Amino acid sequence: MGRLALLEGLLIVSVTWQTRRPTSQQFDIIAAIHYWRDLSPVQWKSRHILGHQDDAGVPTVLDRWATLNCEMDASAKAHWEQCHLQPQPNITISGEPWQLLLPSGKVCRNFRSQLLEHIFAPEAKSYWDRKGRFAEGSSVDIDWPAVGDARRSMPRARQHWQTKHNSGFCGVGKMMLQRKERDSAKCPRCDHEVEDTEHVILCQGSGTSEVWQAQMRAVAKELTKLETDPQLHRVIMAGLHSYRYNEPFTLTSLRPEIQSVVELQGRVGWRNLLEGFPVLGWADIQQQSYDRNGSKRTGRRWITALVKKLAETVWNMWDHRNSVNTNNETSLASIEINNRIIAEYNQGFWHLPRDTRKQIKQRSEILAAPLSTRRHWLHNISVGRRFAEEQRLRNIPPPGVSYMDWVRANRPPDGSEECAALRRYEI
Ligand SMILES: [Zn+2]
Repeated sequence: MGRLALLEGLLIVSVTWQTRRPTSQQFDIIAAIHYWRDLSPVQWKSRHILGHQDDAGVPTVLDRWATLNCEMDASAKAHWEQCHLQPQPNITISGEPWQLLLPSGKVCRNFRSQLLEHIFAPEAKSYWDRKGRFAEGSSVDIDWPAVGDARRSMPRARQHWQTKHNSGFCGVGKMMLQRKERDSAKCPRCDHEVEDTEHVILCQGSGTSEVWQAQMRAVAKELTKLETDPQLHRVIMAGLHSYRYNEPFTLTSLRPEIQSVVELQGRVGWRNLLEGFPVLGWADIQQQSYDRNGSKRTGRRWITALVKKLAETVWNMWDHRNSVNTNNETSLASIEINNRIIAEYNQGFWHLPRDTRKQIKQRSEILAAPLSTRRHWLHNISVGRRFAEEQRLRNIPPPGVSYMDWVRANRPPDGSEECAALRRYEI
């Protein structure tokens, strides 16, 4: 095992001594260290040592633990200086159960997501290319790492919604007609003959411009907060405006690098920026701007935040469409939804992930909310329940649920003492 790798692994294992999380940095090394620890007849204990105690600038006497820690840091730095520019062969780590090697190199953590990406990403890109999603461009023009980062930063329910919206498979008029749930594909806001997902953004019906403008003010505020390059800020707002109102993009005298990214986004379509597919180049330009200003922010995080904010814009246009649609629906649908909400409350929420439980409010408040909000709430709860069920099958408590509560996953009968004890976890 490389000395640096072992030292780094030991640093991390000190905080992950009791648990092994495949998302931890250098998970392969941690797993190997756990393997040897479990085989060892010696009982090992972890101890946290404050790092860099020799950096304080004040002469002080370090104890043996701190000294060892500083020596290890110095060794690691020396080793890194010596070899970080040399090609790194994939070293087999003693005690590692197996290695996952992809063309991009060895996978050290997050095996599941990296394998999924390796298998399905080419297929997904080719799907979008076949569908002509990127107009005069293609999937090679898209900043996929930004797409991935932004999606991971969204709640799971929002990710599901975005996939449905982008692929067109959500409850718009066109799909409702195909599924024979409606008699027509008309837009509920403007009576346009065929409502598809793009029309949800472009609809000029009553109230849509107010929602759009409010969203654009929020996007502009976010760009300011992110200290966006002023010219970049202007072209993004102008590009989105030209798309929504089908007007030509008129900004001129742009810096060459900005002109080139604007042209590329224009070829791929501004709709794609709005729906989560920015082209390559945006993040680099913003990075240069941060560098010029001596900022420690990164272009990568900037594009992630922008894509996430723009997804909110599309979501709000969809939500507005649903609030209008609600008025056209019968009260029967509303009653059915309320019955399902009551059933959810009767099941209880104590074993759901923390993120899902955050959405639990007073029952009366949910029952009185607009139909679209109630539907959205039910969807989020069902996603949380599915996730909890997956965790149950893997015998792992969901985030925010203690292990002791989790082992009682078979809910005791109502009225029992155990049930009363569990009730305190319910909201
Ligand atoms: Zn419309």
